[in-house]
Amino acid sequence: MADRLALDGGTPVRATLLPYSRQAVDEDDVQAVAAALRSDWLTTGPLVGAFERAVAGAAGAVHAVAVSSGTAALHAAVSAAGIGPGDEVVLTPLTFVASANAVLYCGGVPVFADVRPDTLTLDPDAAEARITGRTKALLPVDFAGQPCDADRFDAVARARGLTVIQDSAHSLGGEYRGRRVGSLADLTTFSFHPAKLVTTGEGGAVTTNRDDLAARLRRFRNHGFDTDFRERQARGEVYSPMVELGFNYRLTDLQCALGLSQLAKAEGFLKRRTQIAEHYRAALAEIPAVSSPAVDPAVRHGWHIFPVLLDLERLSAGRRTVVAALRAENIGAAVHYVPAYWHPYYERLGYRRGLCPRAESAFERLVTLPLFAAMTDADVDDVLTALNKVLGYYAR
Ligand SMILES: *Cc1c(COP(=O)(O)O)cnc(C)c1O
Repeated sequence: MADRLALDGGTPVRATLLPYSRQAVDEDDVQAVAAALRSDWLTTGPLVGAFERAVAGAAGAVHAVAVSSGTAALHAAVSAAGIGPGDEVVLTPLTFVASANAVLYCGGVPVFADVRPDTLTLDPDAAEARITGRTKALLPVDFAGQPCDADRFDAVARARGLTVIQDSAHSLGGEYRGRRVGSLADLTTFSFHPAKLVTTGEGGAVTTNRDDLAARLRRFRNHGFDTDFRERQARGEVYSPMVELGFNYRLTDLQCALGLSQLAKAEGFLKRRTQIAEHYRAALAEIPAVSSPAVDPAVRHGWHIFPVLLDLERLSAGRRTVVAALRAENIGAAVHYVPAYWHPYYERLGYRRGLCPRAESAFERLVTLPLFAAMTDADVDDVLTALNKVLGYYAR
């Protein structure tokens, strides 16, 4: 029987697994890293500044500070925002745990607010309702690559004297009302993990238009020193005063070489991701029991992932079985995200289920389909064939 699910012993749609994400590294990237390896500077060299200028350009921001991961970027941003013990930060639960963990690193308290039902990004009204006298910052995330309601968060923050930290790990190259992601909030964080639009292996950056915040970020990623090694060398100084407790969160020149080479191709990557996402969106209209989150017409979406929502009332199987069935067909379906406060660590901190019902019900229905720039049209067709096969089988 041609349609027997691979899960039940049938022939899978593909012979090999299609991952949900994969980097696009080619020969010119390899050459760029090799050239950096042969240079005088493996770290704290000239490629760091060059990469930061390129990131700032791509993000439409005045400053970019490169750091060793997207998580380090969040930690640096939360610290630069002045979050300390007991300070509350309002954020979405539908994110990678690092967004919330960064608040904990600084002794702050993550306060989760629910998502918009249509886009699944942080709901500005829900966020505003969670503000207390201890709130210091708002931390929206550009879920799946869709820029958050930046103007709304900005207005709330200005009225209440809060800082906005935008986690844009998913949305490099995205735009909101014609403005670039990276120029919208007080602080914006990016990740260059291999699953993201451009990669440095591990890596991240924070962008800001404020000189004071940029100076704090630079100190924070370099032990709290107020100068770096090359600046001291240029000034003939033998040591640098450590003025606060910082970290070694530096990004190496090898990584910046890769990042520069990748950034030059970012627009092409995003165009290809957008093309695939549009193809999926058109095809989904014909597949029963599934839809995708709304896309706000005022944004350019960063298309980091392609989440779909199952209509569980019309299926005889739950999300877990659908994901297992897709994986058996060799389609690397994934789930983004379990609400952050459902993790055992957060439960131990006292967070309880039921806090953000819309995020929780979305989580039960979310499946991430493969999406990355190097996917071929045949790969896209395989995903849709498998989705049709699996959902057709479980339809009721
Ligand atoms: C990837 C990601 C991070 C963390 O980035 P790393 O570079 O992996 O540390 C933070 N927030 C979100 C939303 C992410 O997707």
